[in-house]
Formats: sequence, structure tokens, C-alpha cells
Amino acid sequence: MTGLLLLLTLSANPSPRELACSLADEVGPRLSGSEGDAAAVRWAVEKMKQLGLANVHTEPVTVPHWVRGEERAELTAPISRQLAVTALGGSVATPDGGVEAEVLRVTTLEQLKALPVDQVKGRIVFYDKVMERLPSGKGYGDTVDVRRSGAAEAARKGAVASLIRTVGTGDARLPHTGGMRYEPDVPRIPGGALSIPDAELLRRTLERGPARLKLVLSPRALPDAESANVIGEVTGTAKPDEVVLLGAHLDAWDLGDGALDDAAGVAICLDVAQKLVGAPPKRTVRVVLFANEENGLRGARTYAQAHAGELQKHVAAIESDSGAGLASGVLYAVGPGAEKQLAPLRAPLAKLKVTAPKAGDAGGADTTQLPGVPQLELVQDRSRYFDIHHSADDTCDKIRADELEQASAVTLLVARHVANLEGDLGRLPQKSAPGK
Ligand SMILES: [Zn+2]
Repeated sequence: MTGLLLLLTLSANPSPRELACSLADEVGPRLSGSEGDAAAVRWAVEKMKQLGLANVHTEPVTVPHWVRGEERAELTAPISRQLAVTALGGSVATPDGGVEAEVLRVTTLEQLKALPVDQVKGRIVFYDKVMERLPSGKGYGDTVDVRRSGAAEAARKGAVASLIRTVGTGDARLPHTGGMRYEPDVPRIPGGALSIPDAELLRRTLERGPARLKLVLSPRALPDAESANVIGEVTGTAKPDEVVLLGAHLDAWDLGDGALDDAAGVAICLDVAQKLVGAPPKRTVRVVLFANEENGLRGARTYAQAHAGELQKHVAAIESDSGAGLASGVLYAVGPGAEKQLAPLRAPLAKLKVTAPKAGDAGGADTTQLPGVPQLELVQDRSRYFDIHHSADDTCDKIRADELEQASAVTLLVARHVANLEGDLGRLPQKSAPGK
């Protein structure tokens, strides 16, 4: 390689896939409070500086620190079989030696709620709710209630533990984790997820008659830890105090490398910023890599508090947390009458095979914590996303360079358009409880 070629190679901007794989490979698992979380913060500061962003800094966030322990599930009767299981994030441990009980299968929360206490008491409840594979990923929203509330509802009726069929698609024998919630008025029982093949084995076994299962989970909640939101900007040329926020979350579940969730989103934000550095728009484009999206939203809530006085000047927020698939559309939630400001995007979006912006339930878990701020969101293909989401399979080989490149190009187009608008996108009506 000649010297010139080497120089060109070294100075070339990293591609979105290279950025995502750098975070996923070099940092890897990074659940809030872990060593990986701290390493991710250092990675993000370093990367933002390398890419030429301005005002690169961290803002402290106090985060939960939950650690996984031993995890085992075993069918003990009528057959003996080890099942692939994982604790849901935030779960308490089983008693020493584990818990063994007869399994009660239900398919929905509603079905469980309708059962009399004596049918649930002393059992392990198994929520066998099947997620539908759809390009929109809508099946996730339809199924995730059993992960969030399954243990609390089962405990209300005296169950000793709760297991769900993995909220996901695909057929890998890997369980998917994810956040769960306890309720203040009910006992805390352990909550886990079985891999899809094991959930199906358990279902077939129960179709033949009663079954018993032994569960051992030993996760622990440690004292809260310090983490940080990482922030960097491309300073606006004409209205530097007005902000278009590009957001993604830096934390990721501990089972995998957090490549699709959400190194891909981090990469989109950083790629858009690096492309704007040489030709800044009128308004400031601010990249915010949020702490603790997965099990607490503390990063977004802390940002909303710390920047409360400045949110009026947040013209829009665009969150990337939908994986690395091709974009096919753009959703918006903007103030009354402001949609016409987005109409000029129609033609350039069409060149990227993306349909015209459409009103919808736009905004991610983090950016919807910012009251009043208009939201924009890419519609990305998520048909395969939930095969690996929150599982050990969330590794960088799943990212296709061309698809992530396209999603990033669409985000750049939208971000630049909004950052250069003469007018603005109005304000969203403020809900009493922001977020979704
Ligand atoms: Zn995510």
C-alpha cells in the first residue's frame, strides 16, 4: 500500500457498521452500573472527539445496578430436562436451593387474572404468549405485557415464580431477557424467560398432563451506581441555541454485545454527526447517548430535568432504537399545523426508497421523556430484529452494512432538514405522565 493510500484509508470516516461493531465488539455487554457501562461511556467520549464533534462531555446519571447470577430451569416431572432460561432484568432470586412446583400454563395476563387464587397458589406460572413476526415489530408491543407485569400478577394470586415464553421470534434455543416491574402491594417473586424451543417443549409436555419444574435464579440488586449520558454537538451556524436532538441508548443488556440494541442506533447518531461536521446546519445537532434505557430510563429522565429550561429550544428529537434494518418510512408527532414543514422531504426520501413522512406514534423510550418536544422516528424493517433482541445472539455479524448505511442516510436527511427549517415543528401537547 502506498503512503498516500494508507493516509486516505486512515483518514476515511468510519462507516455506520464500523462504528456499531466498534462499540459491540470492543465494549460488548454494558448493562447500567457494570464495568462495561463505564467502558461504553469512555468509548463514546473518545469516539465523539475523534469524529470532530464539539462540546463533548458527560452528564452524571445515577443508575440501578442489577447483576445476573446462576440461572437454571429443569423439568423434573413427568420428564427430566434442562431448559434454557434467563432471569428478567430486576428479578429477585429464588430461595436458596431454588423453587420447585407444578407449572400452570396461561397464554395471557387476562387469562391469569380471571383464575381463582386456589388454581394459582403455590404454582410456577408459565405465560405462553406467542409474539407475531411482523416487519413493523408491532408483535413486541402486543406481547411484552407478560414480561413487564407477569411476575407481579402471578404473585398477586400466590404463585411462587413466573416464567414467560421469550418475547421474541425465531427458533434459537436462547432466552431473551428484558425489564420487568414489581408492584408495591404484592410480594416479589422471581421472573424468568424460557427460550422459544423450551417454551414449546413445556407446552407439549403440559398437553400430556401435569408437569413440575425446578427453577434456580440468583440475581442481585446492588446499590445504585454512577453512569453518564454522553453528549456531543455539531454547533449550528445561525441558531446555535436551538437544538435538534439525535438520541440512542448507550447501555445494553448483559447477555449479548448489544449490536442491534442499540449500537446500531448509536452508530446512526454518530454517523449523521460526522457527516454534518464539515457542513453544519443552521441549528445545533446534539447527539445524546443515553444511560440506562433498558432497565430504568434514568438517563433520559435525568437529561429532561437537567435541561428543563432548554427544552423549549429543542426543535425536534429523533431517537434511533429500532435496529439496523432498512428504513421504509418516517413517522412524526409534531405541533398542530407543523406537518407542512416536513412536506419537502417527500422527494429526497423517495430517492432512498422511503415513503413520505406520516403522522404517528413517533418517538422512542428516551426522547418521549422530553415533554413538548416534537418527535421523529424512522420506520425500519424489524422482521428479524426480535430473533436476537435482548439475547446472547445480539452480535455485530447481524448488521448489514448497506442497510444500516441507508437508515443513517435517511436520518441525516431528516435531521438536516429540521435543523435548517425557517420555521419550527411547534410543540406537542404535554401529557401529565410523559413517555410510553
Ligand atoms: Zn433499545
